[in-house]
Amino acid sequence: MVSFTLNEEHEALRSTVREFARDVVAPVIGGYYERGEFPYELVARMGKLGLFGLPFPEEYAGMGGDYFAFCLALHELARVDSSVAITLEAGVALGAMPIYRFGSPDQRERWLPELCQGERLAAFGLTEPGGGSDIPGGMRTTALLDGDEWVIDGSKAFITNSGTSITSVVTVLAITGRTGDRPEISAIMVPSGTPGFTVSREYSKVGWCASDTRELAFSGCRVPKGNLLGQAGRGYAQFLQTLDEGRVAIAALSAGLAQGCVDECQRYAGERVAFGHQLGHYQATQFRIADMEARAHTARLAWYDAAARMVAGEPFKKEAAIAKLTCSNAAMDNARDGTQIFGGYGFVNEFPVARFYRDAKVLEIGEGTSEVQRMVIARQLGLAKRDTG
Ligand SMILES: Cc1cc2nc3c(=O)[nH]c(=O)nc-3n(C[C@H](O)[C@H](O)[C@H](O)COP(=O)(O)OP(=O)(O)OC[C@H]3O[C@@H](n4cnc5c(N)ncnc54)[C@H](O)[C@@H]3O)c2cc1C
Repeated sequence: MVSFTLNEEHEALRSTVREFARDVVAPVIGGYYERGEFPYELVARMGKLGLFGLPFPEEYAGMGGDYFAFCLALHELARVDSSVAITLEAGVALGAMPIYRFGSPDQRERWLPELCQGERLAAFGLTEPGGGSDIPGGMRTTALLDGDEWVIDGSKAFITNSGTSITSVVTVLAITGRTGDRPEISAIMVPSGTPGFTVSREYSKVGWCASDTRELAFSGCRVPKGNLLGQAGRGYAQFLQTLDEGRVAIAALSAGLAQGCVDECQRYAGERVAFGHQLGHYQATQFRIADMEARAHTARLAWYDAAARMVAGEPFKKEAAIAKLTCSNAAMDNARDGTQIFGGYGFVNEFPVARFYRDAKVLEIGEGTSEVQRMVIARQLGLAKRDTG
């Protein structure tokens, strides 16, 4: 029998993160967002709670949990705020996870304990100014071996967590050779502060305003040969695996935002009076919130399914793409409807629903656009020949 009942550990984690989001994040995040400031204090508290170590073994200072637990935490955080949720998502799914999955024992010992404790952040640099969807075709960054060092030249765009004062390392995908006319792609770890590696100013973004996103430039940047992550030439395959997992995480975050819109509207519908009655008295409002709840519910089931398959070691590529597509749609639709229910206050930044509206759009773009998810699903159905990730 299929069951989506959470076990005791997952239930306890959900309650802990829900309380943390409500009591610690909610009261202060609006200020960080307005100032476009990275919330170091909140990230430190999240680190102390063990959130950055959730899916990693205790030998690396992790919590010994699983990826489902990590996604649950993202869902609960995003019910309140997406900037802290994406900081956790990118730090774990894109930053630390490739080091855990593909790193040597030395690399794991060197980097993971600080990352698992949230004392440091790692980033993953794939997208380039010339293209994000068209990888590897659009990739231009190169890393060439010169003696015992890689020499990296090129640039990366939109890299989350890459420029904070606690960022320790960015894993960069680069062309390291060619087999016939196909580029050979490898993943190379570049510690923050390496000469020849510069990080731009923060982008001025529409949403996720309290998260860190930067453009990176590499000019004759030298790192030791041993900074290769995994095997040379396996970077593309590693990236596909990293993104499949990351899509489940972004789906959970999106479903959390969709649910957060319902939370806000349920409350507001009982408070706001128009034409002599609470908004919730009107069937138009009830139906709108009912539709929002239906979307949040089906979104949650979609990521639960993908995450459960992943944790069970079953194929989950198609389900991850479906979850990412479905959950980001639900987030966008609920943010639009939630803002409408709030009327003018839905357009004022101090109300969370306005933040949700600004934060929802990028969920249809990051870690593979909605079009890319459709390409993946079509390919899994045998409808498309080209490898799109
Ligand atoms: C806030 C933020 C944080 C991010 N964090 C990271 C990060 O940490 N690391 C990282 O590597 N990247 C990151 N990204 C980059 C993100 O993954 C890319 O923006 C995304 O993959 C899309 O790439 P692009 O922006 O180059 O758009 P493009 O690839 O140029 O696509 C533009 C449009 O064309 C569509 N399109 C492209 N090709 C096709 C096609 N064949 N058929 C139909 N439609 C098509 C796309 O779906 C999209 O709508 C981040 C982006 C943002 C905005």
